[in-house]
Amino acid sequence: MKDSPALEPGYFLDRLRAADPEVHAALAGELERQQDGIELIASENLVSRASLDALGSVIVNKTVEGRPGARYYGGAAFADRIESLAVERAKELFGCDFANVQPHSGSQANQAVFLALLQPGDVVLGMALDAGGHLSHGAAPNLTGKWFRPVRYGTDAAGLIDMAEVERLAREHRPKLLICGGSAYPRAIDFARFRRIADAAGAYLLADMAHFAGLVAGDAHPSPLPHAHVTTATTYKNLRGARGGLILTDDAALARKLDSAVFPGVQGSVILNAVAAKAVCLGEALKPSFRAYAAQVLANARALADTLMQRGIAVVAGGTDTPLLVADLRPLGLTGAAASDALEAAGLTCNKNVVPGDTQPPRVTSGLRFGSAAGTTRGFGEDEFRRIGGWIADVLHAMAAAGGARDEAVEQAVRADVRTLCRAFPIYPGLDTA
Ligand SMILES: *Cc1c(COP(=O)(O)O)cnc(C)c1O
Repeated sequence: MKDSPALEPGYFLDRLRAADPEVHAALAGELERQQDGIELIASENLVSRASLDALGSVIVNKTVEGRPGARYYGGAAFADRIESLAVERAKELFGCDFANVQPHSGSQANQAVFLALLQPGDVVLGMALDAGGHLSHGAAPNLTGKWFRPVRYGTDAAGLIDMAEVERLAREHRPKLLICGGSAYPRAIDFARFRRIADAAGAYLLADMAHFAGLVAGDAHPSPLPHAHVTTATTYKNLRGARGGLILTDDAALARKLDSAVFPGVQGSVILNAVAAKAVCLGEALKPSFRAYAAQVLANARALADTLMQRGIAVVAGGTDTPLLVADLRPLGLTGAAASDALEAAGLTCNKNVVPGDTQPPRVTSGLRFGSAAGTTRGFGEDEFRRIGGWIADVLHAMAAAGGARDEAVEQAVRADVRTLCRAFPIYPGLDTA
């Protein structure tokens, strides 16, 4: 394979610039934004050049439905090969017997699980959104919240899952599905205890490891797979691949139901270039170097959490066992919306996030969520993450001191330091963005 920057100007080819200067300009701007700022959004990462190549490949031209070897259209030999590679790698990486790599996203993976295991109106017990749960686990505006009967568990005063509450709600409401895993829950989950609670209630256990799948793959976090009936994941967060979802199980009967829930249940044809890119990222995650990456992601998230706490910024649950952490801004008197705007101006991209017991509306919130996956990919270690934590603290404390007003001088000073650090850790080195 040819992958020489000298011969190949990169993903933003001259062809695109000539054919569609407007789209080219927007993509080039996005590349510069990624290069020049620090990405702290926990659901983002920087995929490999090989993943970009797979995403931009001719397999995008092919339409297939069904599973490898059982398609509804001809000409599928290479599509079958690609999807089979992704399936086999997912099984090897996570040590399971069945994998479906077709879900277009994590939400659609979860929708397929609901369709496979439940009837409309069944009770589902999942984590509340403000405790760190995900929309696709039964939140009110989501299909899973409208067509099923959601019951929610939360976290205790320390920010940890209240297992006694989970147990009590399961006894009281007898859910058909119990869900663990969330979008903003930073701590390790007691999967074995969740399974015991599910068994006692006669429920299936779904583990949604979207936000720690990469750590499971790299042996830096316990695996939910031995405990859950079904495990779902996204491929684009700390697993560091293209956008998409995965469904994993060891149960042959469930696997058949899950396959037909994905197609023809909730999806049509396969997005084969995304599946090819999933195969690439799963192959990368099987390499020994990915273990080092996963360990560094965790060490970096902890270095960031420790730095913030040392600088007097409250961190939900007092730290993290995953690539993400959540700062609680209520003691500083700041909102997540204002703080994330200020940090973005300083070159630090993160997202506002509700915190446990938040009384601010979802568009405002009282928290910020940070993740270490993308920064670790560009080469940052704990020293860099401690510097980042210091910059975040500088911006937030300046705001707090001004009663919540933005401090442009501090933001611009941090912006300059961020730019200098980013130049020392280029993304896609050698890529021509002109
Ligand atoms: C990110 C995430 C998903 C998937 O979201 P999509 O945007 O649909 O890919 C699912 N579950 C959890 C817990 C997540 O954090």
